[in-house]
Amino acid sequence: MKNQENIEPEELECSNCKSHVNGDDEFCPECGTIFEDGIMCSLHKDTEASGVCTICCLPFCEECGAEINTRFLCETHSGYEIYQGMARVFGDLDDTKVQYVKTCLEQAGLHPFIYCKVQPKGGTRLVYTLFEANGDSGGHIVNEVKVMVPCQEVVKAEDILRELKVII
Ligand SMILES: [Zn+2]
Ligand SMILES: [Zn+2]
Ligand SMILES: [Zn+2]
Repeated sequence: MKNQENIEPEELECSNCKSHVNGDDEFCPECGTIFEDGIMCSLHKDTEASGVCTICCLPFCEECGAEINTRFLCETHSGYEIYQGMARVFGDLDDTKVQYVKTCLEQAGLHPFIYCKVQPKGGTRLVYTLFEANGDSGGHIVNEVKVMVPCQEVVKAEDILRELKVII
């Protein structure tokens, strides 16, 4: 029997990725699965969306987006390096520059995280990137220091970095 007194938000599990979602969520923020019918692609108003991009939070049809490594991403964001829910918004070999970017994002209330992987010693093969959403290295070198932000903060972070003229 249902307890009518219970006004706590309903805790549900995403049918696709099993992460916790709220009962009133329209889509899963982790994988982009849509829970409601009749949500249309933001580019094709008469085509039903097959997922919500987990970076820009817009719905897209299967022509405009795809599930890559358990996340639904639109075409624009499918090339982003994503690792454990964080996406790369900036990378540089200069640590000072990276620290500056991190501080700016923190001051804007975001949650940046610096990721740096040391290249294995004695490795002769040039490794480009550690993780990529679509399997394309994108030419990011492995020993750059990366600034990662939670996927949902990417759009805001890039606005800030563009304003600072750190990225174009
Ligand atoms: Zn999910
Ligand atoms: Zn997107
Ligand atoms: Zn579409």
